[in-house]
Amino acid sequence: MTDRKSLQTTLIHSDYKAPDGFGAFPTAIHHASTVLFKNVAAVRSRNWQDKNSYTYGLHGTPTSFTLEARLAQIEGGEHCLLAPSGLAAISMVDLALLRSGDDVLIPDNVYNPNRELGNWLARDFGISARFYDPLIGEGIADLIQANTRLIWTEAPGSVSMEVPDIPAICRAAKRKSTGTQKVYVAIDNTWSAGIAFRAFEHGVDIVMQALTKYQSGGSDVLMGAVITRDKELIHRIEMAHMRLGYGVGMDDCYLVLRSLPTMKLRFDAHDAAARTVAAWLKARPEIAKVLHPAFADCPGHETWKRDFTGAGGLFSVLFDARYGEDQTDRFIDSLRLFKIGYSWGGANSLCVPYRIQSMRASWRDQGQLVRFNIGLEDPQDLIADIEQAFAALRAA
Ligand SMILES: *Cc1c(COP(=O)(O)O)cnc(C)c1O
Repeated sequence: MTDRKSLQTTLIHSDYKAPDGFGAFPTAIHHASTVLFKNVAAVRSRNWQDKNSYTYGLHGTPTSFTLEARLAQIEGGEHCLLAPSGLAAISMVDLALLRSGDDVLIPDNVYNPNRELGNWLARDFGISARFYDPLIGEGIADLIQANTRLIWTEAPGSVSMEVPDIPAICRAAKRKSTGTQKVYVAIDNTWSAGIAFRAFEHGVDIVMQALTKYQSGGSDVLMGAVITRDKELIHRIEMAHMRLGYGVGMDDCYLVLRSLPTMKLRFDAHDAAARTVAAWLKARPEIAKVLHPAFADCPGHETWKRDFTGAGGLFSVLFDARYGEDQTDRFIDSLRLFKIGYSWGGANSLCVPYRIQSMRASWRDQGQLVRFNIGLEDPQDLIADIEQAFAALRAA
């Protein structure tokens, strides 16, 4: 064979090599569906679950492996798996650990798609899904049955903001576990970004993160992660990941990697601004209650004070019951800096209403619930924006 190839072949077989001696901070973006093996022996010996080698793009490239390793480290875990959204990460845990005849316990204030998934598994897949009072604490022991395999927690619930006693729930789950049947505790730790709550140190087995929020920080990426300290457990979850084909895009991984160095600075800024805005709201006659874990009247506040080191930008308020939905809708429509939309963790402040009265029986008589995500704007400007929108509320 000569060195002269057809143009077609040359277009495909480039001579490009990464420059020797090149170093820089960013992780390179390695795209791949096909991953090449040196020879057949390598094909036969390589294991897709081994994070020291590569087999196929769906199982990861050096870019996604780097992100997984960094996330495990941030959360204080050992092993991490990425999923194409936070919700996909939740479903991966459910499908890995639950089979027909099993039981899962889910807090009543959980992120609603998690509840939807539980109800779906119960309706169509022969799994029992039961919902518990998020403030149940060690009392959850009474709900744990012989077929209970998994307890979901969320700290705090990202709409009504009750802070659960995670160590108490974990103690109960451990007490009820047997040598062969473990009751796993999973936490949706998105609110704290893994910064303000060190879940593994409080006894949790599985941490789930919606990287869509603070880890991305740009309102532009959807991604999720599941983290454990236990290798057996991550292998089970990996099987679900593989069977479901939950690949992630490497450009998205890069965006998250690029945002991680500033995550704590952003989180702390969200936290400080949110407390400023929430404190201002608390003094207003339009507001019946501020649901912010750092505030003494938030259910579970004492637990937050004991177990958490910060708060982040998300909280809710209950309007005075004299204001109906039409009026609070008018209030939200009158906001200028706050945009209307789901999600959080980005630089822009957001606001969204929830019909808490129909979501939770015990909240039937409450006023209208509005959730704020405090972004990175000057909090005084945000307060001025809310103040002018209150005028529209009162005029309505
Ligand atoms: C956003 C969010 C999720 C889901 O994340 P997606 O990437 O949007 O699927 C799960 N749990 C909580 C608490 C969230 O806020």
